[in-house]
Amino acid sequence: MGETDPKIASNAHVLILPYTAQGHINPMLQFAKRLVSKGLKATLVTSTFISKSMLVDPNTPIDIQSISDGFDEGGFAQAESSEDYLATFQKVGSPSLATLMKKLGEIGRPVHALIYDPFLPWALDVAKQFGVAGVAFFTQSCAVNSIYYHVHKGLLQLPLSVSNVSLPGLPELQVSELPSYVSLYGSYPAFFDMVVNQFSNLDLVDWVLFDDFYELETEVVDWMSKLWKLGTIGPTLPSMYLDKRLEDDKDYGVNLFKPDTGTCMSWLDGKPKVSVVYVSFGSMAELDVEQTREIAWGLKRSRCYFLWVVRESEEAKLPTKFMEETSEKGLVVRWCSQLEVLSHESVGCFLTHCGLNSVMEAMCLGIPMVAVPQWTDQITNAKFVEDIWEVGIKAQPDEKGIVKSQAIELSIKEIMGGEKGKEIKKNANKWKNLAREAIDEGGSSDKHINQFVADLFAK
Ligand code: UDP
Repeated sequence: MGETDPKIASNAHVLILPYTAQGHINPMLQFAKRLVSKGLKATLVTSTFISKSMLVDPNTPIDIQSISDGFDEGGFAQAESSEDYLATFQKVGSPSLATLMKKLGEIGRPVHALIYDPFLPWALDVAKQFGVAGVAFFTQSCAVNSIYYHVHKGLLQLPLSVSNVSLPGLPELQVSELPSYVSLYGSYPAFFDMVVNQFSNLDLVDWVLFDDFYELETEVVDWMSKLWKLGTIGPTLPSMYLDKRLEDDKDYGVNLFKPDTGTCMSWLDGKPKVSVVYVSFGSMAELDVEQTREIAWGLKRSRCYFLWVVRESEEAKLPTKFMEETSEKGLVVRWCSQLEVLSHESVGCFLTHCGLNSVMEAMCLGIPMVAVPQWTDQITNAKFVEDIWEVGIKAQPDEKGIVKSQAIELSIKEIMGGEKGKEIKKNANKWKNLAREAIDEGGSSDKHINQFVADLFAK
């Protein structure tokens, strides 16, 4: 432990409750590992359904428990709608979480703090019921959450009747650069309510944590720090990809999908350095058939090697015979170990939907991006990738919102060989260094983690 580390009360135990999605589990699990490295005990809570199918690294230092989200046999897919899923999760999850906390107390592992995903704001009520600290852990950027906060407070009135918005600590944003739930008001009412309700009880939390680092969003973090006790604690990649201070921390360690690691790595091994475009739209995005086809043809037109993750549920959207026709150049898999792929020397570009984890992973590994955002916060993340952090190019959609194959091809070629691509690569390397410094000993995130731990758990 570094000399700034506080002395931790010997039985201090945190419960970590992410929303039931890979992009929420990964950063919260990694944060739990940081806490364990500082002397705390940590337990990750998943849903009963996920716990039955997830693949867990047997060496993970985190204990794992489950609660019911009300859909023990099928999870989200079993619910009638998003509304049904979220309402049932609250109704069933809340007493189920209380039962778990009670049980942990009875078996000698009492919980001292609940670190919860604010997509599940009711979890804070359970923490209060047990008289333990409540900590909100946001897995979307501070910028995006500041926008949602302004909507929650009624400071941004929807539907918007302006073409640009100016909010404290943020660059001026066109309406089309705001998260889709805000710009396309009414598009996903249940998810809109969920992101806005994150703030419904936030004034009662003990701490607010963000899965990014101070240097990335300095002004908006400074502004938000006036509202709550706030810390940026990222990046939350496994330590081996960053500061290497956590022993054997090579992987997130909980996979909701089975990665095809052997096939991917041996295929990448056979490719020249910086020659492959890695393509992934994360764990949830559902592309429409036309968009999938345009991406397929864009990859083919670019003449680059490509490794494309197409989840099983998306496979039928690929053009017929695409895989056979491009087998000389491309490999399509259902899931991969994204960090191993991004850190392979043959990968030169990441065509991404701009989920925050994917963006942070690319930045930490110095990989330039082609942004093809689909919905939710990805739209705003893509704006930051292109214009604020300057680590990628946004492939431009047509008037119907479809990114055509030509736009895909041009963006890939620019990143892989163009003048702008060289500048972007330089910026990517700059951010890679800043990200590592932030989480390394004495960096901004390391300090925030130590402050947080000292405040809540020191003897
Ligand atoms: N991921 C992975 N293998 C894949 C695709 C994605 O391990 O084939 C991981 C990726 O590294 C990231 C997470 O899944 O940590 C996706 O999170 P993100 O925020 O990028 O997108 P979301 O799935 O939430 O839309």
